[in-house]
Amino acid sequence: LAGLQCDRLLWTYYNARNEIPPPSEATQAIFDQGHLVGQEAKKLFPEGVEVGTSYTDIAGTISKSMEVLKDRRPVFEGGLSYGGAYARADVLAPAPKGAWDVVEVKSSTEVKEINLEDVALQRYVYEGAGLKIRKCYVCHINNQYERHGEVEPEELFTRTDVTDDIAEPLACVPENLRRMAGVIGLKRRPETAIGPHCSDPYECPLYEECHKYLPPHNVLTLVRMGVKGYDLIGDGILDIKKLPAGMKLSGAQAIQVDAVRSGKPFIHSKEIADFLSGLEYPLYFLDFETLQPAIPLFEGTRPYQQVPFQFSLHVQERKGGRVKHFGFLGDGRSDPRSELLRQLKPLLGTSGSVVAYNAPFEQRCLRELAWAFPPFASWWDRLEPRFVDLLAPFRSFHYYHPKQRGSASLKVVLPALCGSGYEGYDIADGGEASQAYLGLTTGKLSRVEERKVREDLERYCKKDTEAMVQIVESLGELIHPLDPPPS
Ligand code: SF4
Repeated sequence: LAGLQCDRLLWTYYNARNEIPPPSEATQAIFDQGHLVGQEAKKLFPEGVEVGTSYTDIAGTISKSMEVLKDRRPVFEGGLSYGGAYARADVLAPAPKGAWDVVEVKSSTEVKEINLEDVALQRYVYEGAGLKIRKCYVCHINNQYERHGEVEPEELFTRTDVTDDIAEPLACVPENLRRMAGVIGLKRRPETAIGPHCSDPYECPLYEECHKYLPPHNVLTLVRMGVKGYDLIGDGILDIKKLPAGMKLSGAQAIQVDAVRSGKPFIHSKEIADFLSGLEYPLYFLDFETLQPAIPLFEGTRPYQQVPFQFSLHVQERKGGRVKHFGFLGDGRSDPRSELLRQLKPLLGTSGSVVAYNAPFEQRCLRELAWAFPPFASWWDRLEPRFVDLLAPFRSFHYYHPKQRGSASLKVVLPALCGSGYEGYDIADGGEASQAYLGLTTGKLSRVEERKVREDLERYCKKDTEAMVQIVESLGELIHPLDPPPS
């Protein structure tokens, strides 16, 4: 698949593998989730046999696979080779008349274009190696499934027949393999230009390396520019300071370019004043951390449903007043949702703005919690209109600092507006928080490790709401600058 994405990536995989950086924590988390999904899917084939060889032992895998295929039972990760290619599908399932079905397991909730390429190569190799293939399936997550009791693999997964859909990619396999063999055999790394393919279908592991020649304020940082930024790079325009005069820009893009050129932040005082005047004290700064497991962990939840396991809340009774902090973190052993709701409800009072950064996320979490726990439904109905989205002034470019480089995320806005950010935190984003909590749920951590994870999570989530308090204060100072100190 690397060869379909980019020649340079393919060449590096085969000729300079040590230059491919290890996966980031976020990518590793996706791999880990995929592994869990793969294990769960095996339950669909209770008679299945593991080939059980390592991924690097190709010869051993082929010989063991040929041996277990003779038993005519489902084979997990049976590997065969043909025509210079090697395929190892998740499952080869016996079909009538000596044939086999190819089943490729994916943790996505639908069949993607790239999955068809994957399965086409598998069919090509298996047929070339002498197997009779009847049907090909992509076995993916059914996002309508709701867990009740034990996970039911037959309900969790949907098997989509892609036999006809792979006809076109299958016809291209021999030519693709010939072309890729040529690329792999090149003496020097091909000079592939960066482009939309660097993130499609996957974020390339060499992304940082290949993009590092771009200036900090490069055209890819232009807000809502999308892949068109690569067209500009192709035309030799790398820096947003050097955009051609007369190029049509959106209002937000024009603000961004002006801010970079002047080196000063853009401040729309009236809009910021309007936003702040809409805040009603007491202010409740709220942030959730969530899990989003492909395989539902708790009763009544669906695949990839956001399950809050932690909140941080800073409460400020009046403008400029002291802030009080409250927090909740699940125990990592049981469903945290009802206890989270029980503790949060009295803390949010009955009036005052509930401030969240990207508020629709917190609102959606609470809406789903209210569905799951009906006694909280009427409370949620009263709470929902009190939400205020602190992301709004930044997403609308009512404030923009050149240091934001096109981003309005909390982690970027905080240091740009307030001067300091998340330095020194072992957990640096929501994905890492989620991974850390998943670690707690395994029950495999020592007491010391568990204490460290809990402390890191509490520190990180608290920082998010502290950041919101700072941002509101800083916005206030922008429109009502503090009197200068007496000289
Ligand atoms: S970052 Fe882009 S150009 Fe570089 S290897 Fe990856 S896909 Fe190819």
